[in-house]
Amino acid sequence: MGGKFGAPDKMIIGGKRLDGRKPDELRPITIKAGVIPSADGSAEITQGETKIVVAVYGPREVFPKHMSIADRACVECRYDMASFSTPERSRPGMSRRSTEISKIMAEALMPAIYLEKYPKTKIDIYVEVTNANAGTRCAAITAASVALADAGIEMRDMVVAVASGKVDGKLVLDMFEIEDNFGSADLPLAYMLRKGEITLLQMDGELTKEEIQELVEMNIEACKKIYAMQKKALQDKYSVEKKAMPDAGEENGN
Ligand code: ADP
Repeated sequence: MGGKFGAPDKMIIGGKRLDGRKPDELRPITIKAGVIPSADGSAEITQGETKIVVAVYGPREVFPKHMSIADRACVECRYDMASFSTPERSRPGMSRRSTEISKIMAEALMPAIYLEKYPKTKIDIYVEVTNANAGTRCAAITAASVALADAGIEMRDMVVAVASGKVDGKLVLDMFEIEDNFGSADLPLAYMLRKGEITLLQMDGELTKEEIQELVEMNIEACKKIYAMQKKALQDKYSVEKKAMPDAGEENGN
């Protein structure tokens, strides 16, 4: 690696990345549903060293009332990075970046929700990044989807998201911070598997048309793997709750 503040001399050595991964390999991911008892739904995700908690409240009444939409629910997302989430203290409060991410997150998630089933209500999605190490917008979308399902909100599909990009002239999946900082392109994508629909596609840097195509395909393949983890997170939570229920029945003499 190069100096403390400079780019590493090389980020891919002998076909492997600086953290030992192959170009198309995800970071280790864990997803857990139902981590905040006071929320209607919640989830926690760790993706490498990126760590995020999402809490969902609603569908609930809208205040002030005139902000409500007559025939569907509105969705508001608030993405926030904790001041301790980055090596240098991150300034608390909304920034241009967090405002942008909040907006694109809501837009990426809304197509998956049956909004018309919840007229005149609001669904709030609160995202807290507790450790930021690249890929936070995508990991947050993945976790928010689990939190929405955990809240019992009816959905067409889960939304899964991941980013890929270009590092040392090579296309790589799910960059960690050094790659994100010193790579030459970044392409976050959110996807609904069942519908085959992309709900977020952003790009930063320079890529050829063929490279964009390849990264989109790489992201979609990775989304399939992450989708299985989302499902397992929900199954784990609800199988624990189900196991707890018969005991309660027996105690009541049922
Ligand atoms: P994403 O987290 O979705 O990749 P960006 O590309 O904007 O979004 O950010 C890349 C990474 O840069 C973040 O995940 C985080 O590790 C780091 N970063 C972003 N904003 C800050 C900040 N204000 N202070 C320190 N690091 C930051």
